[in-house]
Parts: sequence; structure tokens; C-alpha cells
Amino acid sequence: MSGQSHRGRDYKTGEPIEVKVVDGVVVGIEACPDCPGDRWLAPGLVDVQVNGYHGVDFQCDGLDENDLLRAMAGLARDGCHRWMLTLISAEWPVLLDRLSCLRKLRESSPELQRAIVGWHVEGPFLSDQPGYRGAHDPRVMSDPDPAAVDALRAVTGSDRVMLTLAPERSGSDAVIRRAVELGMTVSLGHTNASAGYLHMAEEAGASGFTHLGNGMPQAMDRHDNIVCRVLDTDCLTVGLIPDGIHVSPQLFRLIHRALPAGRIYYTSDAMAAGGAPPGRYTIGKIEVEVGADEVVRMPGATNFAGSALRPIEGVRRAARMLGVSWREVWDAFSVRPAALVALASGLEVGAPGDVVSVSDECVLL
Ligand SMILES: [Zn+2]
Repeated sequence: MSGQSHRGRDYKTGEPIEVKVVDGVVVGIEACPDCPGDRWLAPGLVDVQVNGYHGVDFQCDGLDENDLLRAMAGLARDGCHRWMLTLISAEWPVLLDRLSCLRKLRESSPELQRAIVGWHVEGPFLSDQPGYRGAHDPRVMSDPDPAAVDALRAVTGSDRVMLTLAPERSGSDAVIRRAVELGMTVSLGHTNASAGYLHMAEEAGASGFTHLGNGMPQAMDRHDNIVCRVLDTDCLTVGLIPDGIHVSPQLFRLIHRALPAGRIYYTSDAMAAGGAPPGRYTIGKIEVEVGADEVVRMPGATNFAGSALRPIEGVRRAARMLGVSWREVWDAFSVRPAALVALASGLEVGAPGDVVSVSDECVLL
């Protein structure tokens, strides 16, 4: 048995507490009058969309255990102890092979098993239209079919899976139903679905929308566009990249006014340059540049090539954009994404013990 104790103030109530963790699980929370007053305790951040981090690109073949451990250490340093490894559009057999290899690597390490809480498969069943497809390769995109989802389940066993698809793709209704039946979380994204398709997808069991405000063209119809249609849905929980760039501060605030807090979560959508300081990096064969804004661009270009947002910095920026304390937005990057994928989280007995200490300035201690 390995035990740990954390002392500080509960990030929600402000009460001084001591949290006892044994074997990675919170086993007790007690009042602790003499705990340090400038130290807050909060559940570790949970990111359901991580494409790479700390120089490691999960879309590359030939990764080894050390690569995944390096990405894991980088994310943990930045406040995120549990995350979903994300694979983007590829030919379906290629994607499944990649997933199978990554799963074997994860099995070899108890630390990776704790950190990688599941797989987010973003594509290839997405809109191939310019703008909506984002950086995904339209040549590998296709319509989904239930057999593909069965194959995904066969490769992932009983692991947690999130599948992002565009519901206007032919056959989506049956595929969403099958995926939900197999215990997957279905999220919509990279889509120009009509209100009718969005409604169909909700009825079929889709519960999320992937990085609203991205995966869409610069110019859209002012009366009828995907942002308005999603905000008008009944129950989709919407993911936002809270860096102030992928979603403007104005739109970020408006989305928070339009939807109840329980329907918003944050994600870094980070790629290999995630967590890297400003500078030029080579990822695979491509040279990219990370700006001080933690956005990745091709050198000299203005359009985005991905996010390098550190999760803890995402919390800071969200709080700044909304004009509230970081403690008010913390759940959007921890408890809420966890709930979307049926993962236990929170500062309570029985919850995972990935407790983090945070200062008043939202700096990890
Ligand atoms: Zn995307």
C-alpha cells in the first residue's frame, strides 16, 4: 500500500482540509485547521482530446513506451493527470492498427494505464468540406458503418472510447446507435450538420460536440451556421479550447451565457508541440512554430496548425476571459469532461487520488 496526504483549502468551499490517498484512491477527507491558507486542493485536470504532447506525436507509427511516458510526464507537469489519447482521420485499418499498438504500449505500464483513460477517435467519418474538415485529410474520409464501430470495439476491448463524427455522413444514425450500445461516447464535430441532423444524432444518443468554434470555415451564413445550430440543441455538451485564440473571448463568453455550465467543458486539443515553449519544432516531417500565445502555426503563416495549450494555462485563460476566479472554471477542465466519458472525478472519498495543489494565482505548486 502506498499512501499520501495533501493539505490545503478545498477549491470549492474554501474549507481547510486534509485529503488522504491510498493506492491512487481518495480514502479520507478531514478538517485540517492548521493547513496552509495559500494552497488550494483540486482534482487533477482531465483532457479528452490530446493528439500529442511534449514533442511526442501520437499519429506517428513506431512510438515506444518512453514516448508515451514523456507525453504523460509533460501533461502531469501541466496539471493534467488523466487524458484520452486522440487519433485523427486515417484510413480505418491504419487507424485501428495504430490504436492496437498504442494499447499494447499502455498495457505495459501501470502509470500509463492510470493516465490514458481511453481513446478519442476523431475521424475519418467527418465532413470533407473545406473549413469543416480542418487539418484532416479529406482523401481518407468515408461514411461510417456499424461494422467499423464493431471493429473499433474489438480493438479497444472494454476501454473507454469517444468517437467524433459528422452526423450528415450517410449511415450515421445507425452508427451512433451502435456506438452508444457498445458503450462509446459519441461526439459530433468537423461538421456542417443541419438542425435536423443534429437532432437525429441527439435522439440516437450522441452527447458531445467536439471543439465548437473550430473545424469550420472563416466565413459562414450569418443566420444559419453550425455554431448557432449547436447552441440551439437540447443536450449536447460542448467542448471549447480555452486559449482565447481558437475561440475568441467574445464568443467564449457568449457560449457561457447561452448554455448552462454543465454543458461546457474544456480541452487543449494539444498536438506534439503541446507544453513546449515558444520556438520552432519539427513534428514528423513538418516544421512548425509555437507562438507566445501557445498556438502552433506553419512558420510565417497566420492560420492555425494546432494547439500547444498547456491545460493549466487553459484554466487561467478561461478565468481571465470570463472575469471569474480560476476556482469557478476548474470543473470545466476536470469534473465535466470526466463526466462526459463516464469517468469518476472530484474531491471526494472514492474518487481517483490525482489531487493537485494550486496557488491563488492558479499556479501549480
Ligand atoms: Zn478537430
